[in-house]
Amino acid sequence: MTVKRDYYEILGVSKNAPAEEIKKTYRKLALQYHPDKVPEEKKKAAEEKFKEISEAYAVLSDSKKKSQYDQFGHAGIDGNYSSEDIFRGADFSGFEDLFRGSGVGGNVFEGIFGDLFGGGSGRRQRASKGVDLEYMMELPLNEAYSGTEKSIEIYHTITCRKCSGSGDEPGSSRKACPQCGGTGKLGYSRGFFSFTQGCGKCGGTGTITTNPCGKCGGRGKVKESSRISIKIPAGVDTGTSIRVRGKGEAGELGGPGGDLYIVIKLKPHDVFTRRNDDLYLEAPISFTTAALGGDIEVPTINGRVSMKIPAGTQTDRVFRLSGKGMPSLHHRGKGDQFVKVIVSVPVKLNSEQRKLLEEFEKTGGGNGKNIFKKIFGR
Ligand SMILES: [Zn+2]
Ligand SMILES: [Zn+2]
Repeated sequence: MTVKRDYYEILGVSKNAPAEEIKKTYRKLALQYHPDKVPEEKKKAAEEKFKEISEAYAVLSDSKKKSQYDQFGHAGIDGNYSSEDIFRGADFSGFEDLFRGSGVGGNVFEGIFGDLFGGGSGRRQRASKGVDLEYMMELPLNEAYSGTEKSIEIYHTITCRKCSGSGDEPGSSRKACPQCGGTGKLGYSRGFFSFTQGCGKCGGTGTITTNPCGKCGGRGKVKESSRISIKIPAGVDTGTSIRVRGKGEAGELGGPGGDLYIVIKLKPHDVFTRRNDDLYLEAPISFTTAALGGDIEVPTINGRVSMKIPAGTQTDRVFRLSGKGMPSLHHRGKGDQFVKVIVSVPVKLNSEQRKLLEEFEKTGGGNGKNIFKKIFGR
């Protein structure tokens, strides 16, 4: 019989270390010994170590268990708690945060401890939902405005039609898995601690096929292209994600298919820029229209409209065309269109035009020329 190591020694903390220090130390060790973080040949040893520190932490982070351990040592724990009970109530919060971004899975407990946390059945036994898929769809602005229907082709796994996902050639029988003896589980123990894992050979089902399905080779799933019709609602924008239920990858062991997410990316438009539900446009106007006023025609996403330019309009002035923007995905109504006018100065003048402008200048029409009067002191 192996002698169990002292929990404090395992974590490398003193007997009167505060709870916060125990937690911090455990997190550090857990990340160090996370089986996903070590090379393949060291995985087994890391898993053992990970279990050891997790067990120590489960006891030392629970004030009741800790005081029993402090008084009676391992006997105080073994006599009072089953292996499941040891972990029950332990504070493993922050685990997802701990592993997020570290490139390793946070579901390490489920993987290593198998049934202990799963409540009776190994991880692989459960029918589970298939993986979600993402499909990037480029869309021109006018289709985002009106809404549309698209037919797309996706390559994904689907449940094998020939065997309905069982993996068996129709009409054939199954036999008990020789690896696990038909239980679907593999158990092992370490000290008083016993673990079970789903059997890898039979995928936790307890049986294996005698005659694998000829179409899917016994996997129960096949990769296939599917044509799917997608309704795109009016008002979608870059980043809008549309869920199509069940069109992702096929589920495991009869579980439902994952979902397909259509992620919209709007193509840049020649003249319009979109911000939320509003559209922005720059419109050049002649300097005479700017000075005298008049009507100009501007494009909207939905056709041309006439816009009034008041006399004396300066360049960069912005006009709002109410309700001429994009339809809103989230509420009724539409955004606005903002038109920024750019006053354009002619680059070539014929002699008649030149004469007229010189006359205009003589009348004192160049209203910009006297603005420095104060500074010049005249
Ligand atoms: Zn098996
Ligand atoms: Zn099949």
